Amino acid sequence: MRIIIIGAGPGGYETAAEAAAHGIEVVIVSDGPLGGTCLNEGCIPTKAMCAMDAPDQERKREVITQLQGGIAQLMRNKLITLVQGRARLRDSRSVEVDGTVYEGDAVIIATGSVSASLPIPGADQAIDSAAMLGLAEVPQRLCVIGGGVIGLEFASIYRKFGSEVTVLEFCPNVLPRFDVDLAKRLKASLAKRGIVIETSARVTAIEGNKVLWTKNDKPFETEADCILMAVGRRPNLASLNLDDLGIQYSPRGIAVDGNMQTNVPGVYAIGDITGGMMLAHVASAQGRRALNHILGEKDVIDFSVVPAAVFTVPEAACVGKTEEECEGMEISVGKANYRANGKAVASGEADGWCKVISDKASGRILGVHILGAHASDIIHEAAVLVALGVTAKNARYIIHAHPTLSEVLLAAIAAAV
Ligand code: FAD
Ligand code: NAD
Repeated sequence: MRIIIIGAGPGGYETAAEAAAHGIEVVIVSDGPLGGTCLNEGCIPTKAMCAMDAPDQERKREVITQLQGGIAQLMRNKLITLVQGRARLRDSRSVEVDGTVYEGDAVIIATGSVSASLPIPGADQAIDSAAMLGLAEVPQRLCVIGGGVIGLEFASIYRKFGSEVTVLEFCPNVLPRFDVDLAKRLKASLAKRGIVIETSARVTAIEGNKVLWTKNDKPFETEADCILMAVGRRPNLASLNLDDLGIQYSPRGIAVDGNMQTNVPGVYAIGDITGGMMLAHVASAQGRRALNHILGEKDVIDFSVVPAAVFTVPEAACVGKTEEECEGMEISVGKANYRANGKAVASGEADGWCKVISDKASGRILGVHILGAHASDIIHEAAVLVALGVTAKNARYIIHAHPTLSEVLLAAIAAAV
């Protein structure tokens, strides 16, 4: 069997490696560097910057190059052919790259996403996250349009680098899809660190170095030396030839069923191109789902339990249901603070909080939301509890090592029984 994968981001390259491990021949086509957005302009360079006290382009390149070497090694497999170039679908079993046609038994589209912008005058004066990662100098004043994940991560990074940062968010809360309690606490924590965050702020135009915005119909302006546009990402649908094949899509992404298959049998789509949760780990899990379907193998991946982390200072992380999503259900909510945790206080990281939501009837843990140091690591214990349907009553007796930050989760679980 042979499959063709378009795109070498975490969706594409991980699926290629997994397919080869199952003895499948793979042609993987990429018009960009190995690792896609995640490695070159996303997850990894931003996290490299989170670990710096000043922008260090050389260190950022080093990190990317090292990890790219790892992916290149993975692709150096006799079953995998890596083709550099832009792919265009010819039919449901073949793809054309610079005049050469590659045929397979199935095609997986993993072409990712690109930054979105606002249809406002002067929008081209703002830069996107990729350009922001290439800045060599620290702007004295940074204005971030969009208080979502990208906006808040860059706000945190550049505040640490010394910029005066203002975030303008259209919705009443930052991180609109997150638990409101968590979002409000994160906003307060970032404000304490000197980041100005305006919510319910509608940006109307950019004029020179001024961002014009309104709040409750009153006009405001924010002057900045750098303006970051971080209002979401849109699927990279360009030049795939979807219309000729009759593949259903909308500006929100390619439509797929539960097996990641499009309406055209044999053509699959995974990752950001499907417009769902635009996360690297979701892209690769969707690739495994598509592969399982192609192989006719049983699939146990649970897409209702996806941990997510925001790498601000402090970090935020969540898994399962938000309190808002539990509306109408009988729930217990347990909370615990980092300041009551020995390790957090001892290591000077006492700014934090954890919330556990459990179902009153069954006692099962439905959702966990953490704000504080190492939230992005602690969340995986919570993911296991939610995925396995463990009750708060049982989980509270799982012995935790002392002193650890994970004891904050245990304390919140105990409060949710
Ligand atoms: P991509 O990684 O976008 O890869 C798609 C690849 O397809 C690209 O290499 C492109 O060159 C190639 N391609 C496109 N069209 C064609 C074509 N026609 N022919 C050939 N090749 C083509 N997610 C997280 O989980 N954690 C994070 O911390 C995180 N941080 C982020 C920070 C930033 C600033 C950004 C922008 C994103 C971040 N993300 C993060 C999101 C994450 O990067 C994406 O969800 C992930 O990269 C999606 O993977 P993908 O395989 O679907 O696509
Ligand atoms: P996002 O959807 O998280 O946030 C965009 C924000 O912009 C929203 O809060 C939205 O309300 C706001 N907005 C929209 N229009 C606006 C306007 N006119 N004025 C002001 N604000 C406006 O998108 P993003 O932050 O660009 O990130 C894109 C994707 O990348 C996300 O889906 C995210 O999952 C992924 N990502 C993940 C991580 C991570 O996992 N740590 C990090 C970065 C990016």
